[in-house]
Amino acid sequence: MSNHITILRVAVPSPLYCNFDYLPPAEYNPATLLPGVRVRVPFGKTKTIGILVEVVLHTTVEHSRLKTALEVLDKQPLLSTDLLQLAQWASNYYHHPLGEVFASMLPTLLRSGKTPEIKRLYHWVLTPQGTTIAPETLTRAPRQAALMAVLSAHPEGLNSTQLSQHTDNWQGTLRTLINKGWAHTVQTASHSPRATAPANNANEQRLALNTPQQEAVTAIGDALGNFRSFLLDGVTGSGKTEVYLQIIEKTLACGLQALVLVPEIGLTPQLIERFQRRFNLPLAVLHSGISDRERLSAWVMARSGQASIIIGTRSAVFTPLHDPGVIIIDEEHDTSFKQQDGFRYSARDVAVMRAHQINIPVILGSATPSLESLHNVNSGRYHSLKLPERAGNAMRPSIETLDVRHQPMDNNLSQPLLTLIARHLAQHNQVLLFLNRRGYAPTLLCHDCGWVAECRRCDAHLTLHQGSRLLQCHHCGTQRPLDKQCPACKSADLRALGHGTERIEDALKIKFPGTLITRIDRDSTRHKGALQILLDSAHSGASQILLGTQMLAKGHHFPDVTLAGILDTDQGLFSNDFRASERMAQLIVQVAGRAGRAEKPGQVVLQTHHPDHPLLQLLLTQGYHRFADAALQERCEAGLPPYTTLALLRAEASHREYPQQFLNQARDIAQSLNLVGVELLGPVPAPMEKRAGYYRAHLLVQATRRSDLHHLLSLWLPGLKKIPGQRKVRWSLDVDPTEMI
Ligand code: ADP
Ligand code: ZN
Ligand code: ZN
Repeated sequence: MSNHITILRVAVPSPLYCNFDYLPPAEYNPATLLPGVRVRVPFGKTKTIGILVEVVLHTTVEHSRLKTALEVLDKQPLLSTDLLQLAQWASNYYHHPLGEVFASMLPTLLRSGKTPEIKRLYHWVLTPQGTTIAPETLTRAPRQAALMAVLSAHPEGLNSTQLSQHTDNWQGTLRTLINKGWAHTVQTASHSPRATAPANNANEQRLALNTPQQEAVTAIGDALGNFRSFLLDGVTGSGKTEVYLQIIEKTLACGLQALVLVPEIGLTPQLIERFQRRFNLPLAVLHSGISDRERLSAWVMARSGQASIIIGTRSAVFTPLHDPGVIIIDEEHDTSFKQQDGFRYSARDVAVMRAHQINIPVILGSATPSLESLHNVNSGRYHSLKLPERAGNAMRPSIETLDVRHQPMDNNLSQPLLTLIARHLAQHNQVLLFLNRRGYAPTLLCHDCGWVAECRRCDAHLTLHQGSRLLQCHHCGTQRPLDKQCPACKSADLRALGHGTERIEDALKIKFPGTLITRIDRDSTRHKGALQILLDSAHSGASQILLGTQMLAKGHHFPDVTLAGILDTDQGLFSNDFRASERMAQLIVQVAGRAGRAEKPGQVVLQTHHPDHPLLQLLLTQGYHRFADAALQERCEAGLPPYTTLALLRAEASHREYPQQFLNQARDIAQSLNLVGVELLGPVPAPMEKRAGYYRAHLLVQATRRSDLHHLLSLWLPGLKKIPGQRKVRWSLDVDPTEMI
């Protein structure tokens, strides 16, 4: 039955795949309510805030069962029509509840009902009296001395985020300095203190572009005002960033805004400074390290148009824009653009859809484009722009394999590599070593009985961390003190098996005494600001050997690195993940890109037991693009993405049988739909079946045509909620999955 009354259809953050209907609050004239406003509504036994998506005249809910909305929070829609559309698209495409999509789009403070206003922000500077105090004289107050040193190094002032990058728990110390009259508080006029700092920073001049850069800027510039997807395919150091900067300049000159997305690890103070040096304009910066209030402030500035340039990580793709001009995605192949839990979207794909919906160009930049993007170029969806050479005088490094078969290895370091390191150090150059494993050793073994330290909650060994004397699980985070003796046989002969960065660091210290080594991985950068300090030491040339995990492989520019070595190339060659070889190739090229970026020629060596591996050979002799062609060919023959589309239905539970039972029933439902063009694979246990105490399994759905896949998913999902055992498992759907673990 249906009723003819005014109904508010509200998307509520809830795992249920539907919107909810409410009667409007009595005091509101429904005619003035526009989609995109927030509405506080009763929900179950509590209240929640949802987004009004539609005002309708019919509902299938019985009138007596309709609840009345409590309050409308906004006079104007919080979300513009185009963001509403984008959310709707994302909800349909990822088969994720609309209310939860909205929740991911909005800053926390807006989700909890705060008004979208810029609250006052502050920054702190030394007083004239403070500038006369030499920090090193404060020997009895080391925290004050450190904070004074930071403040005197930044006469333009620092806000709370910037202070947190330098020191932890600065608040109390700062109050002391203020009480002493050494520092004072200044109200920041906009989000970024630097943007309003006295104009000692005349805009940095743009560089004279080389021909390929000029062609790229012209092509993209011509597309302003229209949708077009560009793949800016430029080798590392080819000046992609300069292309972005000049495109942004054109965009700003048209009175439009630029949205720049970067990988999590790529949003460094150096990058932000580079933008600030060029454009003396307010920037809005959005990443996981900012406070809720700063996030709200950046959001408001982007929406009001006060911020001309918005730089952020994955979720910034949903930032509202007053006058959108261009979207740029740097390092588009980077895996951090894919959200791996909850609302599992790809920020890259959402960005392209957003640009399409609002009719502006989108630029995907990379030295190692994803196979998906190269496929999109081949099929004519993306327009390719190539920057084939390094900009300026930098030369391309030579890459060679180092055959370690039969070589005596000293802690994963072969003799020829050690000799090379010594040679480059003697020339006062920097050396970069890469190993994709943190900690001291991946396994702790009892030499007397064979006992191995295992995680109780995962199918995994515990990693030994010598520095902190801990055993740590890298999958669930469990940790415990290092055993002094074997729990099984009481022997004291426990041995570390295998190598992590910590162990290599120890070995290098012995091999190269007196050489400063900087280790960059998730352990050494755990504390706020630590990454910055380590990178500063790397950039200044103070440290001569840089050792790290993939944190070190991306985006950084170290002019004095002339030798880059990958210690464990073989790890990427043998894996049952079909994306492993693509990732390995990208990593090799990115690591290689760290060497010889300035005037000095670079050398790159890959330690391997398989110097003749065909894909490795192809990569080294013919380059990334020939490798990518071959890899695409393989994917085509194997019927894998990007030639097919995938969706992964995951389930996990505390009992081993439940996920399998649920997925078996899910498969039966899908089969009963009798659809053509889709194939079901599994269910099978996940490669790491037990993780964080849960048993996991998955069912893969594969289709040649995307429309067939979506047709199945939209018919299938409602059925899954009716499976009797569905409450015993946690299940989720991942459309276009990038990890099968
Ligand atoms: P990418 O982002 O492609 O890795 P960058 O934009 O960081 O490369 O540029 C690498 C280096 O080359 C930087 O030091 C940059 O200043 C320099 N560079 C870029 N374009 C030019 C140019 N047209 N002329 C001279 N140097 C340039
Ligand atoms: Zn033992
Ligand atoms: Zn674990």
